[in-house]
Amino acid sequence: MNLKKNDIVNLKITSMTAQGSGVGKTEDGMVVFVPLTAVGDELEVRILKVKKTYSYGKIERIITPSPSRIEPDCGVFSKCGGCVYRHIDYNSELEIKHRRVSDAVQRIGGFSGLKINPVVKNDRPNRYRNKAQLPARNTENGVEFGFYANHSHRVIPCEDCLLQPESFNRIAEIVREFTRATNQTAYDEMTGRGKLRHLYIRYAEMTDELMVCFVVNGNGLKSEDVLIDALKKEFPNIKSVIFNSNTENTNVVLGRKNRTAFGRDYITDVLCGKSFKISPLSFYQVNRRQAEKLYKIAADYADLRGDEVLLDLYCGTGTIGLTMADRCKSLIGVELVADAVRDAEENARLNNICNARFICADASKAAEELKKEGISPDVVVIDPPRKGCDSSLIETVVGMSPEKIVYVSCDPETLARDLRLFDKNNYSVKELTPVDLFSRTPHVETVAKLIRR
Ligand code: SAH
Repeated sequence: MNLKKNDIVNLKITSMTAQGSGVGKTEDGMVVFVPLTAVGDELEVRILKVKKTYSYGKIERIITPSPSRIEPDCGVFSKCGGCVYRHIDYNSELEIKHRRVSDAVQRIGGFSGLKINPVVKNDRPNRYRNKAQLPARNTENGVEFGFYANHSHRVIPCEDCLLQPESFNRIAEIVREFTRATNQTAYDEMTGRGKLRHLYIRYAEMTDELMVCFVVNGNGLKSEDVLIDALKKEFPNIKSVIFNSNTENTNVVLGRKNRTAFGRDYITDVLCGKSFKISPLSFYQVNRRQAEKLYKIAADYADLRGDEVLLDLYCGTGTIGLTMADRCKSLIGVELVADAVRDAEENARLNNICNARFICADASKAAEELKKEGISPDVVVIDPPRKGCDSSLIETVVGMSPEKIVYVSCDPETLARDLRLFDKNNYSVKELTPVDLFSRTPHVETVAKLIRR
């Protein structure tokens, strides 16, 4: 049978894609991707789009629900592009994430029999995020905040996102009331008119400090003092209010220019017993508690004795290396974003760490330079963005012949690809531990331990 659009087929969901969509096969063996399903679901599916070797469909009717199904607890689940697993119980979500990692290392990495520990569980799968960037839009009732729909810039209004602290909702409400009372509008991507683009909030859990940042098309908002007073009155723990100017026609959230309207230009949080300054433009792990667990596993894999040179590639504000600096002779961090490097240097001073230096450069180029200088690190930590490492970086790191490599990854597929290259170049993958940093979303973090053969 040749499938066509709007055909109704029966199928059973047998696995999930990396993006969190269910996968099933028709009687004829055609693979169909069906979002918002669970392994074990028996379904009637309406075909939406037919490709050569696979199709996309949506649920027409659930014949028998999977035992892992639960009632989603969020009104905008399935509309908003954030969560994909609110209809599945948390243990099943962890199993899916484990399977994603093990499939990737087998299929892409070509490994078999690797030790993959259970996914480190998030004790608080809701309200774990310490950062939100809420797009603003104009409605009949004035400015609303929400989240983007999947693969789109349509804003889905959301009054209570279960991934973020409740204080963020109330802050958004205060800002919404203020814009309505003062007749101010949200930025409109189509016309380029209107002021408020995003409301950006960060929370430092350990110090209870809040940062509120307004991304504006211009320099500020009318009567902004009134707004700041209203926010401070209800949240005396707001330590920083910033206006970020973004006048470009772009989907990049933040512009380059910040103006501090109240308090400091940063907040401070504590991670693994060390203090870290967080400024608006620099990277900070969104799930502090799980990041601590992640860093502890990374430290365990690095197993430092005190006399090593530690190289922390893609170091951001220096967090991984600085939390290990007490246990090595010297630390070198490498990071591309200049603001993050400044924060890293500042963070070293803040924690009285004197054996660290940071380099602002591309990781591959910096590693090449360090190798030319004759620096040979004993342990290398690598924590790249989703696209993983360039093969040239892997070659350079291998050329430095560190005893151990700790690879921290937010993408199991590129991790698997890179581990394969390391394995071909004399580094054995000893074990992997996935950590659930991003509960309810498809993302999973993994730490890998590599040892020179
Ligand atoms: N290890 C840090 C940051 C990880 S996020 C932490 O745990 O907090 C990845 C970092 O890599 C980001 O800070 C990003 O700015 C940086 N980055 C991206 N591409 C890079 C490159 N080519 N060279 C060096 N750093 C890069």
